[in-house]
Amino acid sequence: DYGPAPESAAEALQWIADRDGNAGHYIGGKWGPIRDDFPTNNPATGDKLAGVTKGTAEEIETAVAAARKAQPAWAKSGHKRARVLYAIARLMQKHARLLAVMESLDNGKPIRESRDIDVPLAIRHFYHHAGFAQLMDSELPEREPLGVCGQIIPWNFPLLMLAWKIAPALAMGNTVVLKPAEYTPMTAMIFAEICAQAGVPPGVVNIVTGDGDTGAALVNADVDKIAFTGSTEVGRKIREATAGSGKALSLELGGKSPYIVFEDADIDSAVEGLVDAIWFNQGQVCCAGSRLLVQEGIAEAFYAKLKSRMDGLRIGDPLDKCIDIGAIVDPAQLDQISKMVSANTEGETYQTKAPEGCFYPPTLITGLSPASTLMQEEIFGPVLAATTFRTPAEAVQIANNTRYGLAASVWSENINLALDIAPKLAAGIVWINGTNMMDAAAGFGGVRESGFGREGGWEGLAGYTRAKGTTKALKPIAP
Ligand code: NAD
Repeated sequence: DYGPAPESAAEALQWIADRDGNAGHYIGGKWGPIRDDFPTNNPATGDKLAGVTKGTAEEIETAVAAARKAQPAWAKSGHKRARVLYAIARLMQKHARLLAVMESLDNGKPIRESRDIDVPLAIRHFYHHAGFAQLMDSELPEREPLGVCGQIIPWNFPLLMLAWKIAPALAMGNTVVLKPAEYTPMTAMIFAEICAQAGVPPGVVNIVTGDGDTGAALVNADVDKIAFTGSTEVGRKIREATAGSGKALSLELGGKSPYIVFEDADIDSAVEGLVDAIWFNQGQVCCAGSRLLVQEGIAEAFYAKLKSRMDGLRIGDPLDKCIDIGAIVDPAQLDQISKMVSANTEGETYQTKAPEGCFYPPTLITGLSPASTLMQEEIFGPVLAATTFRTPAEAVQIANNTRYGLAASVWSENINLALDIAPKLAAGIVWINGTNMMDAAAGFGGVRESGFGREGGWEGLAGYTRAKGTTKALKPIAP
C-alpha cells in the first residue's frame, strides 16, 4: 500500500468537474450563488483546483435568514437531531476516501494524515455529539439553544474544524452559517452534499464561502454566537466587533506550545513524540509543540537523535502514501515561514532538504534565547525552536514566558515530577509523555492570547446553550 495514488486524485477532480469546477454557497438547502471569484489551488502542484465564490454581505444575510427560519423546528426534537447527526456520520464514513483525497489536494497535507487522522476524528465528532443530542431533552431541561451560530474556520484542518463547530451546535438545537477558509473550501462542499443526503432540514446547515471580508460580514450579521478558530490577530478584531452586541463568542487562537523534556525521559519516545508535535501537518497546527525545552544534561544527545530522525522524514507529494511531510498550504504562507527563519541571527540551524515548489524542510534551531522572536512568535510551519533549562522551576518559567497558552507536553519517567509541573503551566491542555492526544469527549482550548471557550467535551456542548432558570411559585401569594 505504498506509492502515489493518482487514481484517487482523478476521482476527486472528477467530483469537482461534475459541479462545473466551482465552489460556492449552500444556503437554505440549495446550492448557489456559485461564481469563480478567486481560485483555490493544489499547493503541491500549483494547479487551480476550483474557483471559489466570495460571499457578499447580502449573501450572508440570506444565509442567516434561512438559519433563523429553520431554528425553532430544529430545536424541537433531540431524537430527530440525533438521527440526522448519526446519518451524517455514516455518510462521512461512506465518502471517507473522497473526503481524505480532497483534503490532501486542497490543503497539501499527507494522505496518511487526512486518511488516518482528520477524517476519522471528524466522523467521531458527529457520532459523539449525536449521542448528546438525544440526551438534551431529558437530561438538560434547563438549557436552551442559543439560536443561529456564525462559525469561521481556518485552513489547517478544514474538515475537522468544520466538525468541531457544526456537530455540537446542531446537537444542542442551533442552526449554523459556516464560512470555510479561503484556501480550503472543498471538503465543506462535499459536507454540504452529505447534509442534503442525510436529511438535514433546509436552513439548518448553511455554508458560505469567501475570504476575510465574508467572515467580517458574518460577524456583523444577526447571529447569536460567533465561534471562531484562527489567528490571534483576527480573533482580536472579532472580539472588538462583537463587544457590547450580546453575541456569544468563542475564540480558538494561536499558540507557541512548550515541549519539555527532562533528563530522565524515555528519549526515543520523546523524539518520536516531537516528530508528531512539530512536523505533523507541516507544523501548521495551533497546538504544535513548537518550543523545545530540553534539560541541559541530555541536550546534545537529544539533538543528535532528533537530527537523525529528521533525516529520515520523507517530504513530497501529499498523495504518496509513504510521505511524512506534504506541501505548505499556500506560497504566501511559505514565504512567511522562510522570512521568519532567514531573519533569525541566533543559535544554530539544522535543516533537511525539500523538493522545489511549495515545500519547506523540517528545521531545528537550537541555542535560542527564550526571548528571541522564534521562541516567542507563532511560525506555523515545520520549524522547531529549541533551548535548554537546568531545573524544573526554570522549565516552568521559560514555558510560561509567552503570550500564548494552548497546550504543553511534559516528558519524564518521574510521574510525581510531571504531575507537579502540569498545574504550573499556563496552558489549556497538558499532555504527559504524549502529544496531540485529542478526543471529542475532551474539551480543547486555550488561556491567555490562545483564546477562550472549549471545543469538545461537556464544556463544548455547554458553549452552544444558555442556562435558563424558570421558577414557579407553589401557590399564589395572598394579597
Ligand atoms: P486567519 O485568522 O487568517 O483566518 C481564519 C478564518 O478567519 C478564515 O476563514 C478567514 O477567512 C477568516 N477571517 C479573516 N479575517 C477576518 C475578519 N476580519 N473577520 C472575520 N473573519 C475573518 O487564520 P488562518 O491563517 O486561516 O489560520 C491559522 C491560525 O489559526 C493560526 O494562528 C492557528 O494557531 C490558528 N488555529 C487555532 C486553533 C485552535 O483551536 N486554537 C486551531 C487551528 C488553527
